[in-house]
Formats: sequence, structure tokens, C-alpha cells
Amino acid sequence: MSRAELRVMVDPTSCDGYGTCAELLPEWIETDEWGFPVIRREALPAHLADHADRAVHACPRMAIRVVRVRS
Ligand code: SF4
Repeated sequence: MSRAELRVMVDPTSCDGYGTCAELLPEWIETDEWGFPVIRREALPAHLADHADRAVHACPRMAIRVVRVRS
């Protein structure tokens, strides 16, 4: 039986690399040496979902999103 998981994804072509998302979701997003987000690939824990939504809404380029995937 499959279940849904949340994943955080970024569109690198839209990202400006200022790292707002990493400031709002440091448990899940780091920045590389140029300031671009490096996002953990595994399923987002439920207790971080609200923080992830905040990062999505704060992104000035609408480059980051939370998607629901079947596992
Ligand atoms: S907040 Fe958006 S534009 Fe800024 S680094 Fe994160 S994904 Fe890129």
C-alpha cells in the first residue's frame, strides 16, 4: 500500500540564491557556497510542514514548493 510523503523542491532556474528559504527552514535547507539552497531529498517530517509552507510563501521568486508524492 502506498502512502503520501511531502518533499521540498526548488526550481534552480528561478531561484535568486539569497537563501530566504534556508533561513526559514534551516532544519531542511542549507545553502551552498554561492547561497543557493541545498534541500534534503528525503520525505519532509510532518512537524516541519508549517515551516516549509512559510518558506514557500516567503520565496520572492516562487522557486520553492512542497509537493506530495506517493512512496
Ligand atoms: S527563497 Fe526562493 S529564491 Fe531565495 S534561495 Fe530560496 S528558493 Fe531561491
